[in-house]
Amino acid sequence: MATALITHAAFLEHVTPEGHPERVARLEHVLHALEGVELQRVTAPMAAEDDLLRIHPKAYLEELRAAAPDKGLAQLDGDTFLSPGSLEAATRGAGAVVRAVDMVLSGEVANAFCAIRPPGHHAEKDTAMGFCLFGNAALAAKHALDHHGLSRVAVVDFDVHHGNGTQDVLWDEKRALLITSQQMPLWPGSGKPDETGAFDNVLNVTLAPDTDGTVMRAAYESQVFPRLRAFKPEMIVISAGFDAHRDDPLAGLNWDTDDFRWLTRQLCAIAAELCDGRVVSTLEGGYDLEALAQSTRAHVEELLEAGK
Ligand SMILES: [Zn+2]
Repeated sequence: MATALITHAAFLEHVTPEGHPERVARLEHVLHALEGVELQRVTAPMAAEDDLLRIHPKAYLEELRAAAPDKGLAQLDGDTFLSPGSLEAATRGAGAVVRAVDMVLSGEVANAFCAIRPPGHHAEKDTAMGFCLFGNAALAAKHALDHHGLSRVAVVDFDVHHGNGTQDVLWDEKRALLITSQQMPLWPGSGKPDETGAFDNVLNVTLAPDTDGTVMRAAYESQVFPRLRAFKPEMIVISAGFDAHRDDPLAGLNWDTDDFRWLTRQLCAIAAELCDGRVVSTLEGGYDLEALAQSTRAHVEELLEAGK
């Protein structure tokens, strides 16, 4: 079966200020790196209002719409901006993960990667932050649970920053298991091991600065994979951030492209063992253009291989 690549030109219309790390060139490099890979290319639809309301209150959506500029930029916090194209981009990002879940659960494709921006895992229920507007990974899980009627969905977030937004949305969702690994200390500062969710449904794995691939692999093998197997998810959502790469300017871990390849292969193998290989992955961070492009390519190649 195929692997879907869900994207849209609108993701290049979310513009950030000169010098901002979450920039248009990120997605351009990702898409360039995926040229020639045999993927089922799908256009990201706009998410429906009801989809967004699964994870954000109406007042938050109205607040964002009121803040969106007709020209120039609007600033939501120290590092989160809106340009005239941002809301369409964010809405299609949410639409991409919904479509990805629909395609994977219907058996149309084996798995899917959403090449989107802005990213999503820092967006809390009622707060945009950390470059993120809508909580895409949490939405993928909620859509699978509420719309498709699944009983257990796992989200694995290997972005170097804590997935605080995903944690905020899924904190009291006992049908979801969120596992997020992050450098500690690092912005946003949350994600300590004692944050375990309302139903012991959150696992925070902290990694010291300079953690390399060997230590990361040991941490995933000892903490993450057993927990996933015990939970027996019916689908795995991946918050795929590539900023734990040694070349990334925003953080201090020392993973390399092969570490992202290894981690993706392990997660796909567990998905094959537990849930017919159902994986939906969505792009989060990654700010060194070359490291991002190569790591994403390795990630998608593993999805493709697993889906064959
Ligand atoms: Zn990040």
